[in-house]
Amino acid sequence: MSDKKQIETEAIRQQITRSAHGEHTSAMYVTSSFVFDDAEDMRASFAEEKEKNIYSRFSNPNNTEFVDKVVSMEGAESGYAFASGMAAIFSTFGALLSSGDHILSARSVFGSTHALFTKYLPKWQIETTYFNIDEVATIASLIKPNTKIIYAETPTNPGLDVLDLEFLGEIAKKHGILLVIDNCFATPYLQQPIKYGADIVVHSATKLMDGQGRVLGGVAVGRSDLIREIYLFSRNTGPSLSPFNAWILSKSLETLAVRVDKHCENALAVAEYLENHDEVNQVRYPFLKSHPQYEIAKKQMKKGGNIVSFEVKGGTAGGRNFLDKIKMCSLSANLGDTRTIITHPASSTHSKLSVEERLGVGISDGLIRVSVGLENISDIIEDISQALN
Ligand SMILES: *Cc1c(COP(=O)(O)O)cnc(C)c1O
Repeated sequence: MSDKKQIETEAIRQQITRSAHGEHTSAMYVTSSFVFDDAEDMRASFAEEKEKNIYSRFSNPNNTEFVDKVVSMEGAESGYAFASGMAAIFSTFGALLSSGDHILSARSVFGSTHALFTKYLPKWQIETTYFNIDEVATIASLIKPNTKIIYAETPTNPGLDVLDLEFLGEIAKKHGILLVIDNCFATPYLQQPIKYGADIVVHSATKLMDGQGRVLGGVAVGRSDLIREIYLFSRNTGPSLSPFNAWILSKSLETLAVRVDKHCENALAVAEYLENHDEVNQVRYPFLKSHPQYEIAKKQMKKGGNIVSFEVKGGTAGGRNFLDKIKMCSLSANLGDTRTIITHPASSTHSKLSVEERLGVGISDGLIRVSVGLENISDIIEDISQALN
């Protein structure tokens, strides 16, 4: 796009064609199908000789608007929207992999992605090998002849490891392997993996993209030849995003930059507060100087994101006790909401992992994950402080 504008502007000004009513905010196209003018129009639409909406499992104007925004924010060629983040991730694998292929993935991935790797993809003889954060530098030695995808989230959940995207991009390119990045924790406002060589970027739009805890959604963007395959897979298997949710998500993107700026400001303040607290063993936040990959985070991220993790003293009991004392913040499974959300991964999101698996991805018994919201920072810190003391 020659007249491409800055990210904030693209997120606001990209808009589908107005209807005859001249609405300022895009209309909502809650329709399952679209009509054709005549037999020739119908033939040409199905033959893809013209860009026309046919059926909302394939495409819908609201989905197009949402996707177009993410495509331009991520600097991608094309994209497709899904009913959830997991639908985007599964469809990416379903479209791009065949029986006998191998995935090389960072060990610390979202719980359901881990389930895909260990329980479902093996049904189709697709195997996954994990690499640890300290193996990134030697990851080339883990590549097999059938390795098709290198997969990673950065920052990771909830350990907040930061993986070097530039390095991963170079390795993937050198070996002719696709690099797929889950950019959910950073959002395209903070980090654009395609710049560093990612072929596909996936998102759970449920998180910071919606940012208000209302809808589920997902999106995959990247190289247009790959997105074409992902689109065809989805068109035939049906995990498409509903137009209503697409409309909400497109509106949400208009405020993504201002929300994420404030989220990051609050999160850094929480991290700095916790770092000096006696009841806290260790604080993880990508933009704290004490973070082991601080330099990499600074290189590839605009700000540190909205997630802070820390270890309370006293193990599992200490972690659960902290949750029970929280008054204002929510105990909930979502993240990236306006409301601050606190979880204890060892007894909830990651309880199905063995102790070794948990420790392998940095989840100790006392680890607490805070998704820092947009409430006034003094109220957030006050709640955390009274629960710790
Ligand atoms: C939530 C999440 C997902 C899954 O997204 P859903 O919208 O819940 O399906 C995938 N990756 C990461 C990093 C997430 O946080």
